[in-house]
Amino acid sequence: MRYVLSYLNPYKYKLIVNLIVKSGATLMELFLPWILAYVIDSVIPTENVPSIIIFGVIMLLCSGLAFYGNVVANRMAARISSDAIKTLRDDGYSKIMNFSNRTVDEFKIPSLVSRMTTDTYHIYRMFNVVQRIGVRAPILLLGSIFLMVMIDLSLALVLIALLPLIAIVIYVISRRGVPYYSQLQKELDSLIRIVRENIAGIRVIKALAKEKDERIKFEQVNRAVSKKERSAGYVVSMLNPMMNFLLNMGLIMILYFGAIRVSQGLSQTGSIIAFLTYFTLILMSFLALNRIFLMYSRASASANRIIEILQREDAFEIIVSEAIPTDLHIEFKNVDFSYNKAKNHIENISFQIKRNQTFGIIGSTGSGKSTIAQLLLRFYDVDQGQILINGKDIKSYDLKELRSKFGVVLQNDVLFSSTVSDNIRFGRSVDDESLSEAAEMAQASEFIDKLNEKYGQEVLRGGANFSGGQRQRMLIARALADHPEILIFDDASSALDYKTDADLRNRLRKSGMSTVILIAQRVSTVLSADQILVIEEGRIVGLGTHAQLIEDCDVYRELVELQLGGREYVNAA
Ligand code: ATP
Ligand code: MG
Repeated sequence: MRYVLSYLNPYKYKLIVNLIVKSGATLMELFLPWILAYVIDSVIPTENVPSIIIFGVIMLLCSGLAFYGNVVANRMAARISSDAIKTLRDDGYSKIMNFSNRTVDEFKIPSLVSRMTTDTYHIYRMFNVVQRIGVRAPILLLGSIFLMVMIDLSLALVLIALLPLIAIVIYVISRRGVPYYSQLQKELDSLIRIVRENIAGIRVIKALAKEKDERIKFEQVNRAVSKKERSAGYVVSMLNPMMNFLLNMGLIMILYFGAIRVSQGLSQTGSIIAFLTYFTLILMSFLALNRIFLMYSRASASANRIIEILQREDAFEIIVSEAIPTDLHIEFKNVDFSYNKAKNHIENISFQIKRNQTFGIIGSTGSGKSTIAQLLLRFYDVDQGQILINGKDIKSYDLKELRSKFGVVLQNDVLFSSTVSDNIRFGRSVDDESLSEAAEMAQASEFIDKLNEKYGQEVLRGGANFSGGQRQRMLIARALADHPEILIFDDASSALDYKTDADLRNRLRKSGMSTVILIAQRVSTVLSADQILVIEEGRIVGLGTHAQLIEDCDVYRELVELQLGGREYVNAA
């Protein structure tokens, strides 16, 4: 919590000013009943109208100042809290953006999302409330007690005897309520997770007629949430009526003992009236303090979740290594890698790609093709072996420099809600010419030109207003637009028809602008590559040209026969 509180440090002076303004306003409020008592007891009996008016004006001034001071202080509080939380969110966000995929896997995406949204909001509220009532409540509480003692000691003692009872009631109720609330938060997390997953996958769920199963799953969490809500509600709903009851008891006691004392000439009417107000203020401040306590405990749980992000040390280490002169563009040397350290997902992978070559990777689903691409981009670090680009270990490149070499279309790559041209440019300085060139090459220009707004056409989130093939072509254009050194297409043409796919590969080959890595399950996509890597369960089972592989790789030959049918295709390359 202290770490999160340090985000308030830059606002130290503002906080102090705020504290002073707030205390001033609160003191004004505190004096009002006291002045009232004085007026009733000592001024009115003199029937001196001018001085009654003067005191009236003083009271008006006090309440005006209290109002104004409170408004100013509350606004400042809102401003300070939102500024501090903004910095906190910025820090968290840039930290997450630099996380390795391994760390993201560990935190899980929905959890990162809720940490950045709900949790930061809890802290914002806590900052705000502490500034607003954290100062006010103690002053009102202690001030009221002090003034009551000053006005009438014996009557004050009667009420002060009640205070421990009030404190115990609040403590017991909150203590029973808090665990319910933290359980509720957990149940809510799973509710959110299920809603997110189902809404994202609503089409699949409908297509597979799984609505009923999903409905049942949802019902279960939904019921759990409302059960927890009810339990927490039952306990906490005791609090307000109980406080009202105690308030009324206190008021009755004041009136009762007050009346006795007034009739005995020991107290005055004005003090009784002031006491009524002070007692109400005391109860209010108790409740306020309790609220701060609840909010603090919730916020400190949130703070821990955010600190986990902020203090996570996860930078990729940049090592120093000299380039060895070579004509190879990319080289994998005996690479092993595991996502979970349980079993190797990639084992002993070695291959070499020359500049401007096209390299195909083929293998069945889950064989490790995408993993190779992710390692090359250094989304994960290899466990064993080495990956070299231009003769230099990828670990020795600055991450930005390394990744700027690549144009990639990854599996499940996404379009953002923006325009077509923004999606292709993707924040890079790509001039109009390169933009339309890339679209042309990706064969996206044919449909973009037909759009009403052309490149200015709105793209909905995830590209929902475009077809699968159109989306893929835009993604391909995005990968091409920056004239990258290395192109990686991971399953990028799966939604393209065969002819478009073939055209694209032809153009890529002719342009000769980059080294190209084509990852596919379709033989037809890789068959004309300069080299093809066949991978099975993370191991190389074949490496060579189409013709070579047909000769000496059984797995590849089977794939060809299965996918391309007759023998005539076998020699197509
Ligand atoms: P596909 O053709 O279906 O895309 P692929 O060859 O690209 O398959 P990879 O994505 O490389 O397959 O996955 C290889 C193996 O690694 C799979 O067994 C998969 O379960 C596992 N794997 C992939 N990503 C992760 C991850 N983030 N955490 C844990 N295991 C993973
Ligand atoms: Mg894959």
